[in-house]
Amino acid sequence: MIKVEHVSKKFKHTQALKDVSLEVKQGEIVSLIGPSGSGKSTLLRCIHGLEVPESGKIYLEGELMDRHDPVKYRAQRNKMGFVFQHFNLFPNMTVLQNCTLAPIQVLNQSESEAEATAMRYLNRVGLAEKRDEYPNKLSGGQKQRVAIARALCMSPEIMLFDEPTSALDPEMIKEVLDVMGDLAKEGMTMIVVTHEMGFAHKVGNRVVFLDQGVIMEDAPSEQFFTDPQSERAKDFLSKVL
Ligand code: ATP
Ligand code: MG
Repeated sequence: MIKVEHVSKKFKHTQALKDVSLEVKQGEIVSLIGPSGSGKSTLLRCIHGLEVPESGKIYLEGELMDRHDPVKYRAQRNKMGFVFQHFNLFPNMTVLQNCTLAPIQVLNQSESEAEATAMRYLNRVGLAEKRDEYPNKLSGGQKQRVAIARALCMSPEIMLFDEPTSALDPEMIKEVLDVMGDLAKEGMTMIVVTHEMGFAHKVGNRVVFLDQGVIMEDAPSEQFFTDPQSERAKDFLSKVL
């Protein structure tokens, strides 16, 4: 589904990713974990094309993602849903408009088709009745569920989440994790940057542990949590579990 090959990314003085290679298969739920500044967001953003690596290649469904082929590149990017820590909803649009904008403008869907799809997903995240509200009337957990529904409206092949629950009050974390767990059960391929170790352990099938821009460990979740191999991972787990 996704193949990352020898990707390196440098910001001015920081080598954020060092020769990272990773393959994610269809239906896998990969948790990307590691200390602050280890390169988790950078890796996710490189996959989504929000950052440009200075070396390395990324393949989606076996096809190279190549910025020099902008039409194809855009189509590939549209197959990936991205959910941000801070929701990034359009504040001047209703919940429904947030969900239908890209399908109408990017996928050329008719308004009625886009609305029907949006209502299906809003129903699924339990927010159909909020269709005409503006984002500032929603709780954090509701905003994030709208953000997930919005991403799903583009019929993504893979969903990328960057700390989707880190900005939420504790009582709202579960409602978002439940939606993500349902998606996982339905077979969605997901890469999730998260500090929710319960989710990584129980919902995720695999953990990729990054430290200082390097993949230190890549293992089935159960193995990672019960028998981490590297000192760095042991140390990290001793602090977060
Ligand atoms: P966190 O858990 O705090 O979100 P992270 O693992 O997501 O951390 P990244 O955001 O990927 O880490 O950052 C990796 C490194 O690259 C850090 O040292 C960070 O300071 C640096 N970095 C990230 N984005 C930029 C940028 N736009 N400009 C300069 N440096 C950056
Ligand atoms: Mg981050």
